[in-house]
Amino acid sequence: MDDESPQASLFEELPDDIQAGIRDLGWSEPMPVQARVIPIMRSGGDLIVQARTGSGKTGAFGVPIAAEVDTELAETQALVMLPTRELANQVAVEVEALGRHRGVRTLPVYGGVGYGAQNDGLAAGAHVVVGTPGRMLDHLQAGRLDLSHLKILVFDEADELLSLGFWPDMREIQRYVPQDRQSCLFSATIPEKVRSLSRVFLTEPEFVTLSEGQIAPAEIEHQFIVTTAQEKDANLVKILEIEDPESAIIFCNTKDDVRFVTTYLRKKGFDADQIQGDLAQNAREEVMGRIKAGELRFLVATDVAARGIDISQLTHVISYSAPDSPEVYVHRTGRTGRAGKAGTAISLISGLDIGNFKYLQNVNKIKINERKIPKDGEILDTLRERLMVKVEQEMRLIPEAERSFKIDRLVPIAKEMASTPETLRDLAAILAAYLREHRPQTSVVEPEAGDRSEAPERPRDDDRPRKGGRGGGRPRRRGRGGRGGRR
Ligand code: AMP
Repeated sequence: MDDESPQASLFEELPDDIQAGIRDLGWSEPMPVQARVIPIMRSGGDLIVQARTGSGKTGAFGVPIAAEVDTELAETQALVMLPTRELANQVAVEVEALGRHRGVRTLPVYGGVGYGAQNDGLAAGAHVVVGTPGRMLDHLQAGRLDLSHLKILVFDEADELLSLGFWPDMREIQRYVPQDRQSCLFSATIPEKVRSLSRVFLTEPEFVTLSEGQIAPAEIEHQFIVTTAQEKDANLVKILEIEDPESAIIFCNTKDDVRFVTTYLRKKGFDADQIQGDLAQNAREEVMGRIKAGELRFLVATDVAARGIDISQLTHVISYSAPDSPEVYVHRTGRTGRAGKAGTAISLISGLDIGNFKYLQNVNKIKINERKIPKDGEILDTLRERLMVKVEQEMRLIPEAERSFKIDRLVPIAKEMASTPETLRDLAAILAAYLREHRPQTSVVEPEAGDRSEAPERPRDDDRPRKGGRGGGRPRRRGRGGRGGRR
């Protein structure tokens, strides 16, 4: 495709009613991601798109979805899975606006709120369902959401979806999704877990990235955070809370810092241990054994003590003290992103280190993105999301009929506990223990080879048309055949 050509005509090629929706939003020409994605989506191909919020990505999938919906059919024809309720509402509003002149009904669904409005929306025949996988699965299992007419499946912010632990739900949703459909995945970063997701859900996807020269996505996401030296320990904790790494090594420049950080993290309830020069060899080996076996999550170490140690499965490398030299930075961050696995490298940089850190970034020619210290509100939102994901997953194990009985039974206790400061803390302690025990599965475990094509069919209790039975919909414009092997 010629990226230089004027793209205004792209919108003009769309059906009139969708153009009217676009005009209502005040969009005069497509944003770059839309110029790239809309034609491919309209031609029916599967897609992986590397795009961030703010790039216009919602329109990139929202326009083709709105243009594809057949409103004669009161059935769900597009499903957008995304990680949070805020995003669900935002995307639903935009898709609804794009499809307004066609009468496209868009419904946001997510956990943590009552079922009433969502059930009504589904019963009314929502054409586009936008939401979090947990609640979607709930509606699917209860038979309120039917995907037998699904044409387009979108994963938005796929990296976040996986980080929040939605993978088991997504894997389950796959059973309900018809084989003949288009699938598109949008993600700000494309670590290995996102690629694994794409292998499960997409077929021969085209890859679209807007960052020049970055066709092969980076395995390691490099970030730095500017902090005061005094608040470094507290900010380290904030980072760990919001990132919730599966496993991490935290580098310090001195043994004293290693001791201090280990003690500090333990006091805050983190599963941390240390290796530094003063430790006897067998004690070091014992710690190394635990981190390798996945029995220890946070290893605090000096560069010297960690030298030559292969811990390739770490998801995060954190520099508590800034690396002294470009070589040290490369060594440290080389501990993650190995063996095709994704990794995140985060450096905490205080005032005096900034100049030196910029220098090593230039020498290493690595793009290190600045990130802000997470605000308490953001951390709370993330913890809340994590709790909701787990609660809903857990609740799903109880048959729906029993669910309200079991919940209602405990409501008076929860109320009572919330009513005095002391017992409120007990209630919070229960949540803390619950979060601790229920770590989300953030990596994608791919099914066994034979499993994909044989994913059990959902029991069908009616005679709805299966593949291709889209009753009056625009004929698919798939340019290629051989999609029989759809996973
Ligand atoms: P998003 O990345 O989807 O969150 O979009 C970022 C912002 O860009 C949103 O406020 C959109 O409404 C807006 N936007 C999306 N597409 C266009 C367009 N073609 N022209 C102008 N604004 C747009």
